[in-house]
Amino acid sequence: MSQLLGAHMSISEGLYKAFLRGKEVGCTTIQIFTKNSNQWKVKDLTEEEILKFKQAQKETGISPVVAHDSYLINLGSPDRELLQKSREAFLIELKRCDQLDIPYLVMHPGSHVGAGESEGIRRIAESLNWALEKTPGSRVMILLENTAGQGTNLGYRFEHLAEILERVEEKPRFGVCLDTCHLLAAGYDIRTEQGYQRTLQEFDGIVGLSRVKAIHVNDSKKGLGCRVDRHEHIGEGCLGLEAFRCFLKDERFKEVPKILETPKDKKNEAESDRKNLNRLRELLT
Ligand code: MN
Ligand code: MN
Ligand code: ZN
Repeated sequence: MSQLLGAHMSISEGLYKAFLRGKEVGCTTIQIFTKNSNQWKVKDLTEEEILKFKQAQKETGISPVVAHDSYLINLGSPDRELLQKSREAFLIELKRCDQLDIPYLVMHPGSHVGAGESEGIRRIAESLNWALEKTPGSRVMILLENTAGQGTNLGYRFEHLAEILERVEEKPRFGVCLDTCHLLAAGYDIRTEQGYQRTLQEFDGIVGLSRVKAIHVNDSKKGLGCRVDRHEHIGEGCLGLEAFRCFLKDERFKEVPKILETPKDKKNEAESDRKNLNRLRELLT
């Protein structure tokens, strides 16, 4: 079974370099930040950057590319100023994806920061509707990622994702990205085949499996229900290999890109990616 397997790739020294890094370790799909993920500020993309990016994609054949939005953005913020800043930043993320022909933008729904879950969810949906209105004709699908539920982060229950999806206009512009580490951290026990099937059945009933457009394959440093977001190398954490085997072998996800966000050795990032990609490939045989 041929698979879309990849990893999150650095864009340092140029966006297009993510493709070269991906190619080097054998990715058929990659995830990137389209800007520095720890900064609000960003310069507009130049024609040259866009051209180089598209050229490198063509040359490497890596497709699809998945973008992940900045960690600073909180579309659920109860602080008016921060909320507006987040909305503007999210809009820029969407526009950059359109400019780069990136089909998916993964985002963490947001945090309620004490305002309460239902208010947070309402605000997130309003923010998304605001962004939709500003981007008519966009070809980018926004993927809500399930979260670990750290702090006041929303999106750790399937119900949260469903409620946001219910409240947004233009539903075809939305999908879901499932993160394996976050599932475990949020209390969904996918460590056994039976638990996996039960969890996905629950997801299907609440959100719908057809919404899943990307999967983040990460092991978890912490255990079931810990609500802590710490990724671990495949097979070295609390998730165990069975969960990954289930995701990889599931016919329903045959065409869904599966992307690592596992730790990387600063001195040899490619080696870390190769190791984790190989572990996934071994599960397929
Ligand atoms: Mn994420
Ligand atoms: Mn993730
Ligand atoms: Zn995470």
